[in-house]
Amino acid sequence: MPRIVDAHTHPPVPAFLRDSGGAYVEAARAHFRIPLVPASMADMVRHYEGLGIGHAVLLGWDAERNTGLPPVPNDVVAQAVQEHGGFFTGFAGIDPLRGKALDELERCARLGLRGVKLHPSAQGFALDDPRCARFWRRCEDLGMLLLVHTGTTGLGAGAPGGLGMELALSRPLALDAIAARHPSLQLIAAHAGWPWHEELLAIALHKPNVHLDISGWLPRYLPKVVWDHANGPLRTKVLFGSDYPFVQPERILDGLKDVLKPEALDAVLGGNATRLLGLPA
Ligand SMILES: [Zn+2]
Repeated sequence: MPRIVDAHTHPPVPAFLRDSGGAYVEAARAHFRIPLVPASMADMVRHYEGLGIGHAVLLGWDAERNTGLPPVPNDVVAQAVQEHGGFFTGFAGIDPLRGKALDELERCARLGLRGVKLHPSAQGFALDDPRCARFWRRCEDLGMLLLVHTGTTGLGAGAPGGLGMELALSRPLALDAIAARHPSLQLIAAHAGWPWHEELLAIALHKPNVHLDISGWLPRYLPKVVWDHANGPLRTKVLFGSDYPFVQPERILDGLKDVLKPEALDAVLGGNATRLLGLPA
């Protein structure tokens, strides 16, 4: 049994849940009726080790241009990576349309972060905006992975106007052109893209550099066609992820045994992420 890797986690610290999340996280808290009590990074690692999860991808956040709320500094992510001896792979939060985005990308690569996390609805940009092309090219050159929020979001859910978040910006279809133009850039589409999961499945079948994570959903809520692909032609491209602290990883781990065949389970739980992230075996 390979190490279990949670490929999608957010720092549970106040800098994310309170400062960066503001009213958006408040809406998610009410909508999903989850407590979302801030915790320390050490608390998170203890929780994960208790579950037998051996590694996690930790994501930064910068939606300041669109929300007016401060980013989680990428140094917070880099510090967690350093302090917890190999437990985390860090992904930077960068807004590709911000001035200095390329400088920050290069700085984060030097800090040892391995990729970038984007949330087009929260960050307020279109994936096919031509102004982003240089950013994709630089990620490809630096070997930085790109994890992109796709599909609906809990942030702003149920609040007036969804607090201005536009879901169409997170439609996975736009990733296809990025994958076509940057064949060495490794893309991970988060949350299986629901309700556009079928277009994401088609892209992942067609583009070797497009992967998907199943975070943010209890397995029984994702459509059967997602699991048919995870058990079949996309067995090497589907990654376990939780979206912690919004969803507790144990709730997803419990449900996965009901939807995945034993031969797909090891790959999804950790084998695929180990290979994609280049973790020591
Ligand atoms: Zn997330």
